[in-house]
Amino acid sequence: MARPLLLRHDSSVRHDTGDHPEHATRITAIEHELAAREWLGWEVRDSRPADRELLESVHPARYVTGIEEFCLAGGGQLDADTVASEESFVAARHAAGGAAAIVDSLLEGHAPVAASLHRPPGHHAEAARAMGFCLFNNVAIAARRALGAHRLSRVLILDWDVHHGNGTNDIFHADPQVLFVSIHQSPLYPGSGPASDTGSGAGEGYTVNLPVPGGSGDALWCSLVEHVVAPLAGEFAPELVLVSAGFDAHADDPLAGCAVSDDGFAAMAGSARRLAESLGAPLGLVLEGGYDLGALARCVARVLEVFGAEAAPPAGDLAVHPAAAQAAARLATRWPGLA
Ligand SMILES: [Zn+2]
Repeated sequence: MARPLLLRHDSSVRHDTGDHPEHATRITAIEHELAAREWLGWEVRDSRPADRELLESVHPARYVTGIEEFCLAGGGQLDADTVASEESFVAARHAAGGAAAIVDSLLEGHAPVAASLHRPPGHHAEAARAMGFCLFNNVAIAARRALGAHRLSRVLILDWDVHHGNGTNDIFHADPQVLFVSIHQSPLYPGSGPASDTGSGAGEGYTVNLPVPGGSGDALWCSLVEHVVAPLAGEFAPELVLVSAGFDAHADDPLAGCAVSDDGFAAMAGSARRLAESLGAPLGLVLEGGYDLGALARCVARVLEVFGAEAAPPAGDLAVHPAAAQAAARLATRWPGLA
């Protein structure tokens, strides 16, 4: 039986952001924690860099060239929050390549679950604009890989980073093949992702934004995944589930104000694992944010532990949070399964 697969690359720590919260120590901390646990028995492999064609499945050629030239010239500030160094283009190619490669492994049956743990993160990157510490939208590139090379027609992206994944939201805004579901603190950077943003054109209804107030903890975050995302996924019936996994909703995170615990992340992972299994869909994780090194490292390990376990954890008797019940009721007009 194939083992779960973890993709990583040394270039992730050479993406030099200086004195910035999205720092190389994030990857070092995660890898240190996982190594101490013998990588949870996962197979660990170096990712290959994404080629131009893969990057251009989401980003215009002139944008890719612009990032490359900016980095080769020594880098600097791409916007107020986003820094690149000379090595960042290579790191970003590996982050995108790793995300696409887990999709290949999952859909070719080489791994039952897989994770791509790289930096820079990706979910704020728009098709033609770097922002929010992100250069290329790794999870969007992974989804496009599934739809293109593997000819899937339904991919679920669950984004549980505390910030709204504006880039992913916009890239698939009019696309009914990708159900993008984001749970995020509001108000908070980048300010997008109101519940009223539900997609556009043929993709109307396939963007699901679930903003939560600052201070929200396990009771709401876990209930949203178990009681809203899972039934939604049951109705959409994705052939692949990708978690755009930030860990900055953690109570200890310095950049946001939510209060999810280590157990909360494990519980959300359990819901994601059960929903993927019930649909017979492979499950992949792409790392986004998370800025408290201890919480980040511990929670990545907890989530991978759940994803890679022999069996999915049983569903507990988690109470339906009133705000999750409200969200389900609101969505039921488009997704009757949630009624
Ligand atoms: Zn974030």
